[in-house]
Amino acid sequence: MKGFAMLKIGEAGWIEKSRPSCGPMDAIVRPLALAPCTSDVHTVWEGAVGERSNMILGHEGCGEVVEVGALVKDFKPGDRVLVPAITPDWNSVQAQAGFSMHSGVMLGGWKFSNTKDGVFGEFFHVNDPDGNLAHLPKNISVEDACMLSDMVPTGFHGAELADVQYGDEVLVIGIGPVGLMCVAGANLRGASRIIAVGTRKVCVDAARLYGATDFLSYKDGPIEEQVLAMTKGQGVDKVIIAGGDNDTFDPAVKCLKAGGRIGNVNYLGSGTFVKIPRAEWGVGMGHKTIAGGLMPGGRLRMEKLSRLVSLGKLDVSHLLTHKMKGFENVEKALFLMKDKPADLIKPVVTI
Ligand code: NDP
Ligand code: ZN
Repeated sequence: MKGFAMLKIGEAGWIEKSRPSCGPMDAIVRPLALAPCTSDVHTVWEGAVGERSNMILGHEGCGEVVEVGALVKDFKPGDRVLVPAITPDWNSVQAQAGFSMHSGVMLGGWKFSNTKDGVFGEFFHVNDPDGNLAHLPKNISVEDACMLSDMVPTGFHGAELADVQYGDEVLVIGIGPVGLMCVAGANLRGASRIIAVGTRKVCVDAARLYGATDFLSYKDGPIEEQVLAMTKGQGVDKVIIAGGDNDTFDPAVKCLKAGGRIGNVNYLGSGTFVKIPRAEWGVGMGHKTIAGGLMPGGRLRMEKLSRLVSLGKLDVSHLLTHKMKGFENVEKALFLMKDKPADLIKPVVTI
C-alpha cells in the first residue's frame, strides 16, 4: 500500500509499505477523510520526537473498518468510525491511574505517527478498537469527523487543564485550530471574557464565532502589557496556551492572577527549558499552577465529544478552510499546514 511518510528529519515523501496485519485485539481501517496536524510539522521538520525513518505520518482522520481481530466485540468490517489521535492501552497501570494518554510510557498513548505508522496510508492499524474507536454518527460529515480526532479533544483539554469555571476571564494564547477549540471549550465551560491572541484574520473571525470577546496580537507588543491594560492591571483567572514557544510561559504567568491556572496544550518542538518569571510566579509562592497535557484519547471521549457536534452544540466546520479530494492531496495538505498561508485554519482531504 501507499503512504505519505516522514523519511527522516526534515524530509517527507510517498513510500510503499505492506498493509498492516491485524492481531486478535486490533482493527484495520481504510481512511475516508484525513487531516494534517501542526504536530506532524513539528515531528518532521523540527525532529521534535527524534529521528523516525519511513514512518507514515498523520493522526487525524475517520474511516471504514475493513478487518477486525477475533476478540473485537463492537466493530465489524463496513462500520464507519471516528478515530482518536491518541489510542491508549487501556489495560495499562497508567490508564488505571487516570493517565491513559501516558500508557506504558510518558506520551505512550500517542502511537499514530510517533511510535507506529500513522493514518496517511491506504490502510491503518488501530490497537484495542473496542476501547479506542467510536461509531461515526450519521449526521456528522467525514470532514467534520476529522476534527474530532485531535482538534476538539486537544482544544477542550486545554480548557480542562486550565480548569475553566463559570464566569472566568480566560486568555487563550494562539488561535490556530487547536486554540480555536480551546476558545470553544472555555466558552462551553462558562467563561465570561475570552481574550484571544493571534494575528491571522481568518482565525480572529473564527475565534469570535467560537466565543472570544477580546482580541490582541502578539506582534503589537508584549502580551502581558496588553492583557494587564485590558484588565485594569488585574490579569485573568485562567490562561490556555495553544501557540507560541518555550518563552510563552513568561507572558502567561505574568497575565495570571494569583491562584490561577495555566493549561498548556502547545507542543514544544525544540529547545531545552521553558521560561517562568520568578517574581510574577509569586517568587515561587503565587499558587499559579502550570499544567500541560497530551489530549486524552479513547472511545468514551470520542462518543461524548461527537454528541456535541451531532446535536448542534459545536460547529467544527468553521475550522475547515481548505477542502480537497483524493488521497494524493494528503501531501499538499501537509505542506499547507507547514507553510500556514494567511487564509488557512485547517485543510482536510476526503478520499
Ligand atoms: P497553528 O500554528 O495553526 O496556530 C498557532 C497559533 O499561535 C496562531 O494563532 C499563531 O498566531 C499563534 N502564535 C504564533 N507565535 C506566537 C507567539 N510567539 N506568541 C503567541 N502566539 C503565537 O497551530 P495549531 O493550532 O494547529 O496547533 C497549536 C499547537 O498545539 C501546536 O504546537 C500543535 O503541535 C499542538 N498540538 C498539541 C496536541 C496535544 O495533545 N497537546 C495535539 C495537537 C496539536 P498567527 O495568527 O500569527 O499565526
Ligand atoms: Zn495532532
